Amino acid sequence: MRTKKLLTVLLASVLTAALLSGCSQLIHRLFPVNTPPPPAEGELQVHFIDVGQGDSIYIRTPSKNILIDAGERGDTVVDYLQGLAVDSLDLVICTHPHSDHIGGLVDVLEAIEVKEVIDPGVVHTSKTFEKYLTLIDEKDIVFTEGRAGDTRDLGDGVLLELLHPAQPKENDLNNASIVARLTFGKISFLFTGDAEKKSEKEILGRGFDVSSTILKAGHHGSSTSTGEDFLKAVSPETVVIMCGEGNSYGHPHEETIELLAEYDIDVYRTDISGTIVVTTDGKTYDVTTEK
Ligand SMILES: [Zn+2]
Repeated sequence: MRTKKLLTVLLASVLTAALLSGCSQLIHRLFPVNTPPPPAEGELQVHFIDVGQGDSIYIRTPSKNILIDAGERGDTVVDYLQGLAVDSLDLVICTHPHSDHIGGLVDVLEAIEVKEVIDPGVVHTSKTFEKYLTLIDEKDIVFTEGRAGDTRDLGDGVLLELLHPAQPKENDLNNASIVARLTFGKISFLFTGDAEKKSEKEILGRGFDVSSTILKAGHHGSSTSTGEDFLKAVSPETVVIMCGEGNSYGHPHEETIELLAEYDIDVYRTDISGTIVVTTDGKTYDVTTEK
């Protein structure tokens, strides 16, 4: 479904809803990022940008620029993208409207040309969400509601598949997260937003192929995500956990770290390594870290 009408309905719902604030998240000042060299022709790069406690993932396919979430504050993401000379994004995926994912999208939408936004289509009664929808409307950006089963051929052998949500609920925003699988040759990535075990079970129940070389752990490595059944089905070689150093949620949780160790999976964490970049030619991949 791709309609202006949907956006108008969402915007109206937000404007008429009571405004709730108080989603205080930890904000970290970031160090300048030592970015790796740009991908060679025909390569694909995935940048797990260190935005403190939050998610922001920049994907450079051989011909397209994609962003999944933008952390709590957008200046870091805008600076990072501009540092890579990205002046236009073909696609922005907003996994769900919590501020540690959507907060920075306002700055991104203001600073960088965005051609399309994919969003789960659930309402959040925050000023940030209202601003985000208003900008999409004002800039006349294509707005697509993402649903499980949607697929998108991104060219150059890159395929994007949405595995979740099917029926997102506004009172369960983490589980409204868009879960996306990106495949490039033999290498695949699974981006899970803050989807919890309940969503993981639903995804497995839909019978999708979830196997992925690299998994972004759900919900910042919380024990509410990355259940053993799901992990076994995804069977990743590498897991990336996006969380802020010393965050007040205790992410990543010990239970998650222990499970990943049990399965002998390589783990990279933005709170320890800063920005993490995976470069792949579709056959093998390299991981580089900021620190
Ligand atoms: Zn989050």
